[in-house]
Amino acid sequence: MTEPSKNYVNGEWVASETGETAEVTNPANPSEVVATYQHSNENDAAAAVDAAVAAEDEWRNTPGPERGRILREAGTLLAQRKDELTEILIAEEGKARPEAAGEVQRAIDIFHYFSTKAADLGGARKGASGPNTNLYTRQEPVGVAALITPWNYPIAIPAWKLAPALAAGNTVVLKPASIAPGVVVEIARALDEAGLPDGVLNVVTGPGSSVGSEFIGNEGTDLVSFTGSSQVGEMVYEQATDAGKRVQTELGGKNPTLVADSADPAEAADIVANGGFGTTGQSCTACSRAIVHEDVYDDFVAELVDRAESLDVGPGTDHEMGPQVSESELSSTLEYIDIAEGEGATLVAGGGVPEGEEVETGHFVEPTVFTDVDSDMRIAQEEVFGPVVAVIEVSDFDEGLAVANDVDYGLSASVVTDDHTEANRFVDEAEAGVVKVNDKTTGLELHVPFGGFKRSSSETWREQGDAGLDFYTIEKTVYDN
Ligand code: NAP
Repeated sequence: MTEPSKNYVNGEWVASETGETAEVTNPANPSEVVATYQHSNENDAAAAVDAAVAAEDEWRNTPGPERGRILREAGTLLAQRKDELTEILIAEEGKARPEAAGEVQRAIDIFHYFSTKAADLGGARKGASGPNTNLYTRQEPVGVAALITPWNYPIAIPAWKLAPALAAGNTVVLKPASIAPGVVVEIARALDEAGLPDGVLNVVTGPGSSVGSEFIGNEGTDLVSFTGSSQVGEMVYEQATDAGKRVQTELGGKNPTLVADSADPAEAADIVANGGFGTTGQSCTACSRAIVHEDVYDDFVAELVDRAESLDVGPGTDHEMGPQVSESELSSTLEYIDIAEGEGATLVAGGGVPEGEEVETGHFVEPTVFTDVDSDMRIAQEEVFGPVVAVIEVSDFDEGLAVANDVDYGLSASVVTDDHTEANRFVDEAEAGVVKVNDKTTGLELHVPFGGFKRSSSETWREQGDAGLDFYTIEKTVYDN
């Protein structure tokens, strides 16, 4: 990866007009430059939008089965390159190998899933009052979609926006996260080889504040789908709605697992550790609060500490938990650890950077557990985005439910209980877009809707599954006399 990677605009691989590039380094070994990408500006972004506008008619008039064939072929090409994509993802983002390989597989599956939808976008025959009237509805593409994606699932999230957008007949401009754009470049390569017409997909790398902002503000784009932090996402939402665009924002989380008195402490600790320390805690759905009934509190904490201390931390190539993605993400996690200690929480596991030859230079942090946490502490309210679990003790199920809902976020939530009535109450009352019983807060199959409540999402639109297609289509009612 010595040659700087180019932008993909109008079917060509082109350099930015800035003449500048940006390096991506390995989070497990930051002195290693993994790849360089174009450091593009507003003009590069505007040129990409022009290409997407010019390609609109051809793509929307391409028959659905043909659009589906191209998506299927691209999915198959990605599958043939799965090992290479996994290596890129580990090198740029730092994920542990099974997590990276699983994410690449998810992207492949998404392309195959939406390839079958392209020919079957919905619409229905309706009863008409007139004898010679054919009355029906049909789903049409909306126009040019601007997709802006984060680094934490650098291939799955772009795939779950891009595949439905293309299946429905929209053209696309895509800005991947600057930290880990490599796998998106490979998606563009696969679609190009699969025969996607020029201009239907355009990928531009560069800062969100210039490239992303131009995509949102440019009058050529009709839709904005953004996934990232609540801080940026709320700005994006305002900018896009002010510009009259259809907008979808999928944002942060502060996800709870409620452990009831009937729970087995060891099983509950497995669930919380998987949800909290998986992907180094860098999932929007990561469990960052364990809310635990006092009767099982001590046993649960002992089990969770054991899980945290026995996790094998090191480079994602061959360890269980990889590094944080960047120096700034690591600093932010360490700062939250200081904040929690300052607030009076008790550190019972981790809390620092691990030691050893393999981990001394990377952005590694220990899996960390705090107890004696109150719900109003910052460690219990703000998204940390690192492997840190705050344990909150409660005296009954009602208090646990109230604490679970006592945050501004509402992405996912889970409960561990043997009591079916409690499980049902949790499903009824948890303020979260994804609710699970006896399962971790992370992980979702691709055919079910995904989105949050409160500050976690703009709420109007969901991603993935059939619901994921709704955002990219507009319904037309037809009277044919
Ligand atoms: P981020 O800093 O908000 O960035 C997300 C994307 O927005 C990046 O491509 C970024 O570009 C771009 N961007 C930054 N400023 C912009 C602006 N002014 N206008 C337009 N685009 C702009 O988020 P992140 O750190 O990459 O991702 C982590 C966050 O994503 C966490 O909060 C996590 O919870 C959330 N997340 C949510 C979901 C969900 O489905 N709810 C899923 C995954 C992650 P640059 O990379 O160039 O800065």
